[in-house]
Amino acid sequence: MIIVMKDDILPESPEVQQVIRMAERYPDVHAEARKIQGATRVLTEVYLLGSTSTIPQEPFEEFPAVEKVIRIRERYRSIGRHAGQAEALGFEYNGVRFSQEDFHIFAGLCAVDTRENVATMFQALQRVGITTTRAGAYKPRTSPYDFQGHGKACLPYVFELAGQYGIKVIAMEVTHESHIVEIREALAAAGHPTGVMLQIGTRNAQNFELLKAVGQQQEFPVLFKRGMGITLDESLNACEYVATSGNNRVIFGLRGMKTNLGDPHRNLVDFGHVPVVRRLTRLPVCIDPSHSVGKKDVAPDGILDIAHVTAQGIIAGANMVLVDFHPRPEQALCDGPQALLLEELEYFIRDAELVRKAYLDRCALRRELGGAGT
Ligand code: PEP
Ligand code: MN
Repeated sequence: MIIVMKDDILPESPEVQQVIRMAERYPDVHAEARKIQGATRVLTEVYLLGSTSTIPQEPFEEFPAVEKVIRIRERYRSIGRHAGQAEALGFEYNGVRFSQEDFHIFAGLCAVDTRENVATMFQALQRVGITTTRAGAYKPRTSPYDFQGHGKACLPYVFELAGQYGIKVIAMEVTHESHIVEIREALAAAGHPTGVMLQIGTRNAQNFELLKAVGQQQEFPVLFKRGMGITLDESLNACEYVATSGNNRVIFGLRGMKTNLGDPHRNLVDFGHVPVVRRLTRLPVCIDPSHSVGKKDVAPDGILDIAHVTAQGIIAGANMVLVDFHPRPEQALCDGPQALLLEELEYFIRDAELVRKAYLDRCALRRELGGAGT
């Protein structure tokens, strides 16, 4: 059960303490107050955990400081969109807002290779006004003989260059909890010139200890990528580990499913799940067209498959696009064949913005004329 407090009631306030005391009078019930950043306001929610199914709602609804009481399903307690929860979760990080209403493109290197390539990439982003990027330092590779990323050695120059070129948030995968410490220390040593969003890769989608580790810290938001070979429900449950460990600044990422049925693409593109995740959860939804398609084939209309599937995700309401670019893909140490060229950056962004506008127009049309589901 979730007790939503009225605006301006803080977790430490006497009103919240009163609700917690009342809840904990019931046997086997533990209550926790959390500050929730909604898409339009900050609010306090009190989570009742344990044997809550027989607790009546009315005594809580009678408190003047309580806005409403929501009886939640067992599933996706923290990330789920429960009946009565119209407001999506959202948050601001390093000056960038993330929610189901916002839209950002994280274009950049799959893996950091040289300082020069990082600088060239960031400079290209600055030229087109993009402040969000990706840069892998810790790479989970199928073969132990493949390039594993430069690890913490590259962090000082990646962060320094990010500051120099106005990058506000870098999506960076972590494969071990020690990487969170390394990133925290390197950011502090550099004087916090930028921010980092910790990425959980598809291979670690059910690494529950890692999920708890990124969930137990509050400093960095988390991009959770769905598992490539498990159901959406299993991935959502895994993502729940992050939020229920204490960090609800989470984005859910779709990146394709591993099956030969998606051939000739690298993975079966799963962006039809964008509206599903937006409905089942309150999280912003990211799409990764690069790891879904995995190659630079061009359709007869001259448009790359990567750009086509990006459009398919955005037209369905995606809030973030994670996409691989590289100044010299032939020299990339990881995923060169799917990297777009810097010459394609402006086109990619303009195309994505055009589709985002079309999505917003679709929403406006739906509000104006109604339609199925009204
Ligand atoms: C990546 O984004 O670099 C990556 C390895 O993605 P995924 O975990 O989706 O394969
Ligand atoms: Mn990659």
